[in-house]
Amino acid sequence: MMLTDLSLAGALRGLERREFSSRELTQAHLEAIEQLNPRLNAFITVTGEQALEAAEAADRTRAGGEAAALTGAPLGIKDLFCTEGVRTTAASRILQNFVPPYESTVTAQLKRDGAVVLGKTNLDEFAMGSSNMNSAYGPVENPWQRRGEVARRVPGGAAGGPPAAVAARLPRGATGTDTGGSIRQPASFCGIVGIKPTYGRCSRWGVVAFASSLDQAGPLARTVEDCAILLGSMAGFDPKDSTSVDRPVPDYRAACGCSVKGLRIGVPVEYRSPGMSAEIEALWRQGVDWLREAGCEIVDVSLPHTKYGLATYYIVAPAECSSNLARYDGVRFGERVEGETLDALYERSRAAGFGPEVRRRILIGTYVLSSGYYDAFYLRAQKVRSLILRDFSEAFQRVDALLTPTAPSAAFAQGEKMDDPVTMYLNDIFTVPASMAGIPGLSVPGGLDEAGLPLGLQLLGRPFDEESLFALGSVLEKAAGFTHLPAVRAGAAS
Ligand code: GLN
Repeated sequence: MMLTDLSLAGALRGLERREFSSRELTQAHLEAIEQLNPRLNAFITVTGEQALEAAEAADRTRAGGEAAALTGAPLGIKDLFCTEGVRTTAASRILQNFVPPYESTVTAQLKRDGAVVLGKTNLDEFAMGSSNMNSAYGPVENPWQRRGEVARRVPGGAAGGPPAAVAARLPRGATGTDTGGSIRQPASFCGIVGIKPTYGRCSRWGVVAFASSLDQAGPLARTVEDCAILLGSMAGFDPKDSTSVDRPVPDYRAACGCSVKGLRIGVPVEYRSPGMSAEIEALWRQGVDWLREAGCEIVDVSLPHTKYGLATYYIVAPAECSSNLARYDGVRFGERVEGETLDALYERSRAAGFGPEVRRRILIGTYVLSSGYYDAFYLRAQKVRSLILRDFSEAFQRVDALLTPTAPSAAFAQGEKMDDPVTMYLNDIFTVPASMAGIPGLSVPGGLDEAGLPLGLQLLGRPFDEESLFALGSVLEKAAGFTHLPAVRAGAAS
């Protein structure tokens, strides 16, 4: 087995037993990046030198008989997390030269626990999209391909870089953020695990804001246990984020082996969308059977406002983004294009700095917040949002978790769905409701479709009950026995 093939837990074990050093491990990952990144474009910035220095420091820590949760483990960081002294672009031209003078809380905590940062991974500009085709630094390729086909597939979005990189074995694990599905949908498309924790579980401080009432950081990795290890370091109260919640961080790793016997699992009827493919329907049924066999009780539940999820999300998220992105005006930081007047400077800077999807969202957001339309759209969407949350709260009085597919399709081809934004937005149909409600959601690979592309199953839980999701996710992972490998990966003969 190649060093890059180990899980995060396996790599940490190997480091602990001195089977290899963090320097060797980090070197192997940097070589994998060098080999595959020109094709996959999963990393925007590779910080090789800093990574090797951090790896050597980790080796010294271990030699001194000490180790934290992640000492010496090489990770990728979504390029939306500010990293002190390392360029942070949000995949936008407007931030192409932005070198933050501070570190996000989440990455600071990962580093505190000994993580080695390999670099910053690609995403859709400002995390807006479902395909990673909207990055100013070029699209990301999914390491998976349809059997017998050469057409390149999207890794999902908005953050296609982290899951594509993890699936290709470039880093051990990665950070993501999920506003409407950006951890779960790409995890599903790339055959890996990803969890969006409860809103408020991980600090948003130092994460470039898209839609502040929805954005939530979380990990992506190859196994459920690896995600649990990473979340243990990422989560926690942060006084610098007023929406961060002050409650202890449980031992997520311990939750992975817990029995799920007697847990009640809801199957929401509304998620059976008419256009759903027979394969996804079959996988969903299979997932239900797996949980039943593990001793869970299966219950049909109704979430009647699910059908409004997408429409309300695409009002609330653009509204918040139009306000958050107002700061990029060419004056304080970011790209500047001079103009004769201040207004001309704003207009030119923003026109040069933002790509078409970001501009579309700003326009939608400005429209739904403008006087006369505020009540008709934004306020109404907020009211429907409360109803979506109420649906979940009522369901969680009867069940402990919900099981649904993660996405309505497998990874689509690059370029597909690009001419119709609404078709692209439909991809978020199963992930958006949980984002609107702020509840946790985990995606775990369930199997392959007939063409050999991965399909994910999604577990949704009560607020702050990530532990049940890890326990249930481990059961699904074991039952699915997902050991398939993507066509393009480090160490594979190419
Ligand atoms: N695809 C969704 C959007 O475009 C979600 C993206 C995200 O979660 N960052 O807004």
